[in-house]
Order: sequence, then structure tokens, then C-alpha cells
Amino acid sequence: MLTGDERYLDLRTFKDKVKKAIWEKQNHKCAICGKEFDFELMEGDHIKPWREGGRTYISNCQMLCRTCNRSKGSK
Ligand SMILES: [Zn+2]
Repeated sequence: MLTGDERYLDLRTFKDKVKKAIWEKQNHKCAICGKEFDFELMEGDHIKPWREGGRTYISNCQMLCRTCNRSKGSK
């Protein structure tokens, strides 16, 4: 169980529960390349970037594979 305090420590990171829900919703596929991945190989991404005011809410979460998440970040 997560304690209530963790959300203050880790505001930029989606909780596993949220990521798992999105992963299921995306049929285990990366939102960019469309390939299927295990949950452990994917990362939660802010649809609207954190630095542009995107919040760490489930409505702003998409699941990307590590490759896509990295290439997205380097742009
Ligand atoms: Zn991908």
C-alpha cells in the first residue's frame, strides 16, 4: 500500500495503479509506435508535458515504451 505522503514526494511520476489502468486501456501498446509491450517495459508519460503545466493526473497519462519515451524527451 502507498501512503498518502508519497504523492507529495513524487508529483511527476504516475503511480503504478494509474499506469496499469492506461496500459490496459491502450491494449498493452505504446501510444507512439503501437507495438505491444509488457507493463514493466513501459513508462508513464505526460500527454501535456509537466514543464508546460501538465499535471500528473490519469487524464494526462499515456504509456510509452522506453525507446519512444526517450526519443520524445530528446526533441
Ligand atoms: Zn514505442
